[in-house]
Amino acid sequence: MIDLDRAGAMDVLRLEAGARIFSEGEPGDHAYLIGSGSVEIVAGRDGPPVVLARLGAGELIGEMAVIDDHPRSATARALEPVELLVITRDVLRGYLEKADPLLSRLLHVLIARMRHAQRALVQHTGGAPSAPDPTQELPGDGEGDVFSLLIDDLKIRQALAEGALEPFFQPIVELGSGRLAGFETLVRWRHPERGLVMPADFIPTAERSGLIRAVDLHVFERAARAVLAAGSDGGRAPFLSINLSGSHFASLEVIDQLAAIIEDTGFPPSRLKVEITEGVLVAHPERALAVIEAIHGLGAQVSLDDFGTGYSSLSYLHRFPIDVLKIDRSFVVGMAEHPRTAAITTAMLQLAGALGLQVVAEGIEDDGIVPRLCDLGCHYGQGWLFGRPMPADAMRRLVASGRTAG
Ligand code: C2E
Ligand code: MG
Ligand code: MG
Repeated sequence: MIDLDRAGAMDVLRLEAGARIFSEGEPGDHAYLIGSGSVEIVAGRDGPPVVLARLGAGELIGEMAVIDDHPRSATARALEPVELLVITRDVLRGYLEKADPLLSRLLHVLIARMRHAQRALVQHTGGAPSAPDPTQELPGDGEGDVFSLLIDDLKIRQALAEGALEPFFQPIVELGSGRLAGFETLVRWRHPERGLVMPADFIPTAERSGLIRAVDLHVFERAARAVLAAGSDGGRAPFLSINLSGSHFASLEVIDQLAAIIEDTGFPPSRLKVEITEGVLVAHPERALAVIEAIHGLGAQVSLDDFGTGYSSLSYLHRFPIDVLKIDRSFVVGMAEHPRTAAITTAMLQLAGALGLQVVAEGIEDDGIVPRLCDLGCHYGQGWLFGRPMPADAMRRLVASGRTAG
């Protein structure tokens, strides 16, 4: 049994025994995931009915017509009281659009064959209900995992629509003066039961479904409005650093989307830094270069996030016009403990200095390391020492106070 209460306010259909879920010949706008109860699929509206399958909790029904846009080839009926999670056409189509074109084509071929086989079966059996061997088996683990991914995806979609994905703000300070320089915005899911959910718990799902693109833009828009509303501490107004997932790099569409948000919010692009990760540079070097140049065209800067982790080739630094290097926390922490790590971090900072890059040291938790980073020419720092990620109102108070640390 699938726990549909976890689905929150998602569309759950509860039907009595005998109720029709959909009928043969109808267009199909929804598929359904069975949460509890059992369902019978019957075909043959022009002759004696043939039972094609009996399905239970954890199984999907009604997907064929949504995928191939043909009328329903069978009727689905509740055998007992059922709970169904409604999966809209948009959600299912979203996955198909992202799928490999060959796989998508194969899926259509398979569905066409299935429909053909079903018609043949109905004609030949002429109403012998036991002929097709209806199954009552529950799905295997693999299938269950796929569906739980689908449920998670639906929940994140809903959270996005309800505004429950909220930008938090972590200060980035000028190490030399200790002054507030800007904020990185980090998404949090304000969940009605689970409290604040961290990005690690939902970004991987959003990445797989492609929803991360909408999440990133939503976070940027809200963060831009919040940082503008916070004004400045009388000195320089803080910059805003946003995270952009690698999945934006399939096209230049993201540039128009960023430009639209810049225009709508009035956020000055000169105060915007866009964080990308090394993975993107490796996976799609040409596209990454085009996106980076287009971000510059908007008047914003580009930061390379988590530098030193992934594939970490210093050669990127001359191949791509990056403005800011964010040195990963593991190097910053390791510097104090391991001479070899310290040597690598020192080399990174020297190279960044020679290339005229700004550098942000990530994950600074104690002040012991700060003078050393300053000596090595590291301009900016970010970490719990200066402030944890905070909601917009706390960010506003911090800006107004003119202080640095939270
Ligand atoms: P990131 O962009 O490298 O963000 C820095 C992470 O380090 C944040 O984790 C931050 O809370 C954490 N951190 C900062 N200072 C310290 C410190 O002193 N000590 C320790 N131990 N940790 C520190 P968070 O907020 O959990 O975010 C994790 C990652 O999720 C981010 O890593 C980023 O890659 C991703 N992320 C967050 N928000 C978004 C978003 O809106 N869009 C996208 N695409 N990714 C996001
Ligand atoms: Mg980041
Ligand atoms: Mg980082």
